[in-house]
Amino acid sequence: MRLETLPLEFQGALPIMRTLQQAGFEAYYVGGSVRDILLNKPIHDVDIATSAFPAEVKSLFQRTIDVGIDHGTVMVVTREDTYEVTTFRTESTYQDYRRPDSVEFVRSLKEDLKRRDFTINALAVGIDGTVIDLFDGLVDLRNKVLRAVGNPYERFHEDALRMMRALRFVSQLGFNLENETFEAIHEYHSLLAKISVERINVEFVKLLIGSFRQAGLASFVESECYEYCPGLREAGEALLRFADLTGPAIPTERQAWTLLVMELRLAENEIAPFLKEWKCSNQLIKDVRQMVPALAFRKKQEWDEWTLYQLGRELALSTEYLLRYYGQEPNLPRVRLVYQNLPLHSLKDLAVKGSDLLQEITLPRGPWIHETLQHLERAVVERRLENKADALIAAAKTFAQPNE
Ligand code: ATP
Ligand code: MG
Repeated sequence: MRLETLPLEFQGALPIMRTLQQAGFEAYYVGGSVRDILLNKPIHDVDIATSAFPAEVKSLFQRTIDVGIDHGTVMVVTREDTYEVTTFRTESTYQDYRRPDSVEFVRSLKEDLKRRDFTINALAVGIDGTVIDLFDGLVDLRNKVLRAVGNPYERFHEDALRMMRALRFVSQLGFNLENETFEAIHEYHSLLAKISVERINVEFVKLLIGSFRQAGLASFVESECYEYCPGLREAGEALLRFADLTGPAIPTERQAWTLLVMELRLAENEIAPFLKEWKCSNQLIKDVRQMVPALAFRKKQEWDEWTLYQLGRELALSTEYLLRYYGQEPNLPRVRLVYQNLPLHSLKDLAVKGSDLLQEITLPRGPWIHETLQHLERAVVERRLENKADALIAAAKTFAQPNE
């Protein structure tokens, strides 16, 4: 098979491909971008594989960055873009189920394609558009089958992360796991315990937000992989409930975690520990901790101004959108409007500051200042007070109490 025209994203890398070839090396487009082009999906990064060794790649281009030189990856910087150029390699003797003991650079494309995870990820495209298909990846692409390259038992035993990758590809692409590939995942699911949470997290999020999450999650549960993921050992049913939420692909990571936490029915004080176990960022944890109670609230009633104010515009919109997964119609324009018309958008908008209170109220400096400001803030947002200095000072005088 041959691509009639190279996609634009590939054309941008043609000068790099030509330079490598003219120096006597082989060069191919490989990996996810080839798969996605053949599926007519948008592509993100273009990966190039070459027979040139890293030092040879570096000598051929003016601007390069060592991004993973030990693994053979050199980033080549052109005026328009950057491309990862990786030397053909094999990976030998995996002893700990996760990282190859050593990476060996080789001159053979076949060896390089052989170490890749799935047949649909083991295709290469030459500079003239020829598709090199040594493992029948094209048939699997056509039949929507996800199949390990070679013996699946060996491949998952070598690198257990591939099991999570398989499940996330099911969710992203809507492909079916080939029987033996599934059986091997089931057999080795406990090896996931050997993989770092950070790496599982990346694949798990892709699994949650894929367009075919129902299928991906069903396989995640059926293969029992979930039992070796943080905080999910007993969560089979909750995961299937999550899978059954109807609606389009979940747009963002924080929305996915919010829905998952909802279905796990975690208590408020269990949310942060769960997400910490997953090594989520502090920002994400902060957002989800706000979104979960907000969504529970919104499922039952309209926003009130105080709840909306506390959430902020972005989180409120993000939360409102999630109603659709519970069969309710989100009303984003209304959220925007109500938010826009709030009397305040932050404490900075309040017509008095702490220094004003200190001046007007004869109390020594203390926590009462902040407490009074918060009291005024809520009263203004709930329209019990006007945001005018006089009115606020008067209210502050009756509220402020010296702190013991
Ligand atoms: P995405 O579109 O999400 O980037 P991808 O297939 O490009 O998907 P990458 O992690 O970018 O995934 O990896 C690029 C390629 O490297 C894969 O297509 C596959 O050929 C190979 N690969 C990546 N991870 C593994 C692995 N754990 N074992 C074997 N091959 C892998
Ligand atoms: Mg990729």
